[in-house]
Amino acid sequence: MADKGLLLVLSGPSGVGKGTVKSAIVEHKVFPFEYSVSMTTRKPREGEVDGKDYYFVSREQFQQAVQDNQLLEYNEYVGNLYGTPLGPVKKMLAQGKDVLLEIDVNGARKVREQMPDGVFIFLTPPDLHTLRDRLEHRGTESEEVIRGRIAQARKEILVMQDYDYAVVNDTVANAVAHIKAIVDAEHVSVKRV
Ligand code: 5GP
Repeated sequence: MADKGLLLVLSGPSGVGKGTVKSAIVEHKVFPFEYSVSMTTRKPREGEVDGKDYYFVSREQFQQAVQDNQLLEYNEYVGNLYGTPLGPVKKMLAQGKDVLLEIDVNGARKVREQMPDGVFIFLTPPDLHTLRDRLEHRGTESEEVIRGRIAQARKEILVMQDYDYAVVNDTVANAVAHIKAIVDAEHVSVKRV
């Protein structure tokens, strides 16, 4: 078996609940891993701790980190910059530790380009799976709304095809259990021998 840790990338559309699922995994330590703390220019929310939830930095500090090639990837999201510090990720993987990233889909795409051996997990809203059935059987939405929803779902499904796994976030407990099962399976995967 490879002695390097697994890079676990948890991503998915905005609003799907990535942060909540990640927090549950971190809080309950459902499997052994290190969480990769991102850098952001966003202001801390109440209760958030610098160095634990994020490294909260100024735009200047963030741009300096970009210039110094300190970030594995970064992305702007709703007016704030978010990025994954490269050094700690490389170090923890080399030490044989699994590393969990919780990042948006743009960030995940950039990570995939550089670290294709990662385990890419796409968190989906439950309604994505039932969307077609519901739209067909309900018949209450206007044609325009149906088209809009299907277009959105298609876009999300297209992105999902680049991932190794899709996990439905119906309940946090179910999503966490599925992610644990994925990690356990990856550790005994013949692909990694
Ligand atoms: P929030 O501000 O709610 O904590 O996070 C906003 C979005 O930024 C979420 O979709 C989250 O997954 C994403 N995000 C958090 N850290 C990173 C990161 O290091 N890189 C990228 N690309 N996105 C991140």
